[in-house]
Amino acid sequence: MKARGILLVISGFAGTGKGTLVSALLEKYDNYALSVSATTRSPRPGEVDGVHYFFKSQEEFRAMIQADELIEYAQYVDNFYGTPRAYVEQKLSEGKDVILEIEMQGALKIKERFPDTLLLFVVPPDADTLQSRLAGRGTETADVIKKRLRRAVEETAYISQYDYLVVNDKIDVCVEEMHAIIQSEHFRVDRN
Ligand code: 5GP
Repeated sequence: MKARGILLVISGFAGTGKGTLVSALLEKYDNYALSVSATTRSPRPGEVDGVHYFFKSQEEFRAMIQADELIEYAQYVDNFYGTPRAYVEQKLSEGKDVILEIEMQGALKIKERFPDTLLLFVVPPDADTLQSRLAGRGTETADVIKKRLRRAVEETAYISQYDYLVVNDKIDVCVEEMHAIIQSEHFRVDRN
């Protein structure tokens, strides 16, 4: 029987390139599966239901909570985001390492409920890079960039609760570092 996969949480300040890192991991290695979250936020241009998110109404999201279909959920700005249980369970039992790309509140809830979860936090090499990457997206106003930067500073206080901190200076290098961390976790003596 194949060993159960590892549950992985990848968080990071907005603009650190964690989405790019996750895509690269999925493309390069076949041991990973990415969980698609449910959210009450409206789709952005180009986002596809069932691919980027499962887009739900407030009522539908509430029904998922009631039916215990989410392993965690959190409010972020004005919307709810949550991780559907069924896919995660299925992939873990197939031996896949399941990636949750979620924010900090959800990450800490997951760690509390499933202590074997590996939490990785991605940071940019320095504050200037963070600001320029956010600005470079061209999708956020100066006000939103400021709010996200402020939130990044607030979140700094909780980084110590993560297991690993990775610096995303060069994407290729960072992907290899993340993969190495995750692979080594499979060899821990206290993991069954
Ligand atoms: P965005 O609206 O930019 O797609 O996501 C906003 C934040 O919600 C990001 O930090 C993202 O990682 C987080 N997020 C996405 N899905 C989930 C989820 O299922 N649970 C939690 N707790 N956060 C999520």
